[in-house]
Amino acid sequence: MADVEQKDTVIVGGGPGGYVAAIRAAELGQKVTLIEKGDPGLGGVCLNVGCVPSKALISAGHRLQDASDASTYGIATSNVVIDFKKTQEWKQKKVVDRMTRGVEMLLKKHKVEIIDGEAILDNDHQLRVIKPGPKQFMDNDTGRTITWKNLILATGSRPVEIPHFKFEGRVIDSTGGLNLPEIPKEFVVIGGGYIGTELAGAYANLGAHVTIIEGTDSILNGFDADMVKVVEKNLKKKGVDVVTGAMAKNSEQDDKSVTVTYEVDGKEQSIKADYCMVSVGRKPNTDNFGLDMTSVKLNDRHQVIVDAQGRTNVEGIWAIGDIVPGPALAHKAFFEAKTAAGAIAGKKTANDWVGVPAVCFTDPELAEVGMNVATAKEKGIEVATAQFPFAGNARAVSLDEPDGFVRFIYTKDKKNIVGAQCVGPEASTMAGELSLIVNCGMNVEDVSLTIHPHPTLNEPIQEAADIAMGFPTHI
Ligand SMILES: Cc1cc2nc3c(=O)[nH]c(=O)nc-3n(C[C@H](O)[C@H](O)[C@H](O)COP(=O)(O)OP(=O)(O)OC[C@H]3O[C@@H](n4cnc5c(N)ncnc54)[C@H](O)[C@@H]3O)c2cc1C
Repeated sequence: MADVEQKDTVIVGGGPGGYVAAIRAAELGQKVTLIEKGDPGLGGVCLNVGCVPSKALISAGHRLQDASDASTYGIATSNVVIDFKKTQEWKQKKVVDRMTRGVEMLLKKHKVEIIDGEAILDNDHQLRVIKPGPKQFMDNDTGRTITWKNLILATGSRPVEIPHFKFEGRVIDSTGGLNLPEIPKEFVVIGGGYIGTELAGAYANLGAHVTIIEGTDSILNGFDADMVKVVEKNLKKKGVDVVTGAMAKNSEQDDKSVTVTYEVDGKEQSIKADYCMVSVGRKPNTDNFGLDMTSVKLNDRHQVIVDAQGRTNVEGIWAIGDIVPGPALAHKAFFEAKTAAGAIAGKKTANDWVGVPAVCFTDPELAEVGMNVATAKEKGIEVATAQFPFAGNARAVSLDEPDGFVRFIYTKDKKNIVGAQCVGPEASTMAGELSLIVNCGMNVEDVSLTIHPHPTLNEPIQEAADIAMGFPTHI
């Protein structure tokens, strides 16, 4: 047996959590080893099969829509066609490959040792690296055994499967949904969360007829109903059927189609589609790399329990990203990565945010950070709200995207902003400013006295604050 290799900081998983932790740890003077099994690979779910390729398809859908119908602007177009094979090639080569190569380059620049292989924990102090693949074969051992001063676990998450919808053939997960070889004529999406609704919108823009089947009484649960309503109106305009309170029961497929059966209002219904994408949630990867051989404690949702710096109950083992509690989002993983790497270096870092922004790349986009009225009430905080509609914003009107609003939730006494919401054009971009406002604990006067350039989509932020101050201008 080969010698046990003694390392300084070892990171398992090269996704947004793992690769950012590697960079920060290296910047802080640690000798870093990152182990990535290559499924999906450096950049993790986000860059390979998540945030980035999904936004590429969403952009392609927008380009197609803009090209197909510009009559509002007096522009006549005809014979607009899409070569989806080329769209997919662009998404893979010019977007995903480019970004993942960038991550590899950054890691190399920071002298991070990258090990291609799968880490399997043996105990609280040691792991083995095996070649990725079926674990029952003895010959997949690389012979490398590693110990660490500090180990950061960043193994991410994977899609949840539901009974009778095994991921194969025409029943696909979000990764399958991102890599379709053709634009489906009929596309069924089970689960109207943000992943399902974003891809439903993208394929509707690309020309598919889409049906969303959602078990609860609303899609995009978590966002306020009046925000979701704006998105629903747009989905309806695109011809997307949204069936809520519907339970997916069964799928049957042949080589050409899949028939999905679901129950709604006590009645069974079925739809025949080219593909059925199931996006009902994701589960943390805590059950497939020997974590049960360690003393690391999990909660009842199989997530690793950590303190505010990402420390587990086992000395020297840390965890970040989708495997720890909190929203499963790349920017949360980035933050936790920097916190853990900093804590290892003895810095007073902490995951002490006021709010993690949540963004949804629907049409129009949704963004939210901090509390909404309901969560403020639950905490016993007396709040008021002020909102400004994009219909009163010159830039939104000139973009022909006047739907939606910006809203602040602020304390009644001191007018401190505890939450901010936006539904409308470029809400994703505005989420950064809203996050700054909420996380810096600004009050409405701070925002009202901040000059916002004209004409821009950010002006409603200042206008909503003006309303809260009692001096509305453009409304
Ligand atoms: C379709 C889709 C769209 C999304 N869109 C957004 C978005 O717009 N914005 C956003 O913030 N988030 C988005 N997300 C969520 C985001 O992708 C995740 O929150 C983020 O990738 C989590 O980062 P992570 O580092 O925790 O894990 P992951 O990205 O899952 O990376 C984990 C890595 O660890 C590796 N690994 C696992 N086990 C081992 C092992 N034993 N040994 C070695 N390597 C291992 C895996 O191969 C993987 O590369 C989206 C997700 C999906 C599926």
